[in-house]
Amino acid sequence: MAKTLAIANQKGGVGKTTTAVNLAAGLAVAEHPTLLVDLDPQGNATTGLGVKKAGLYPTVYHVLLDNEPAEKAILDTELPHLRLLPSEVDLVGAEIELVALERRESRLKTGLEPVMGSYDYVIIDCPPSLGLLTINALVAADRVLVPLQCEFYALEGLTHLLKTVKLVCERLNRRLGVAGIVLTMFDGRTSLALQIRDEVHRYLPGEVFETLIPRNVRLSEAPSHGKPVMLYDLRSSGATAYLELTREVLDHE
Ligand code: ATP
Ligand code: MG
Repeated sequence: MAKTLAIANQKGGVGKTTTAVNLAAGLAVAEHPTLLVDLDPQGNATTGLGVKKAGLYPTVYHVLLDNEPAEKAILDTELPHLRLLPSEVDLVGAEIELVALERRESRLKTGLEPVMGSYDYVIIDCPPSLGLLTINALVAADRVLVPLQCEFYALEGLTHLLKTVKLVCERLNRRLGVAGIVLTMFDGRTSLALQIRDEVHRYLPGEVFETLIPRNVRLSEAPSHGKPVMLYDLRSSGATAYLELTREVLDHE
């Protein structure tokens, strides 16, 4: 059965999608069959892997709302071991439509069950909120991996997220745990970044990945070419960092 990691942080623009895409690609490069689930209506992970969202059917939206089989929606990508369950804008409505449905928190888990045997890893890219979509990801997941940008309010949001993880664990998914915090867009030349890094280590000792993801322009360029960074510029510091993070995730087993 696949190990499932939700990439979550309710704060916007902290590097969730960049981490989801490039960690999934790293696992695929290491020849682990991997499924990337784009659970964000923005569809950035879908676009980032070169898939056009216009007219796409079915998508993760139909898996959640209409019981469409996930297998019908899953697409191949440029990497042989990486497949994608794509998203689309209609998923915005899913947040509201889900409220009226039965077992609204576990629709994703149920939808993914038939395909779990085909993958070593399932990586879920969450939207920047703690609404029902993210709750669905946390119920489907074994672990949550939290990308954190080293800026002033980072820790406040983190406390709230960890409370939510604890509640989901108590009420909906006993298996759920924290895989770790990964510091993104890290710039060691600023004292604020160093200070926040040290605070996160003090606040959550042993729960921070050693890999620091640096700010690297290649990471922001790769999605516009529809590629994970390893296929765009393997020698960039961004590619090196995400391959290191992949190694750490694999070693955590
Ligand atoms: P959202 O909350 O909107 O879903 P997100 O948390 O998924 O955002 P990303 O989309 O991964 O965040 O990143 C936000 C922006 O920062 C993007 O333009 C992305 O290309 C850029 N970015 C992410 N990580 C890095 C990095 N390490 N170096 C440079 N740019 C980065
Ligand atoms: Mg995103």
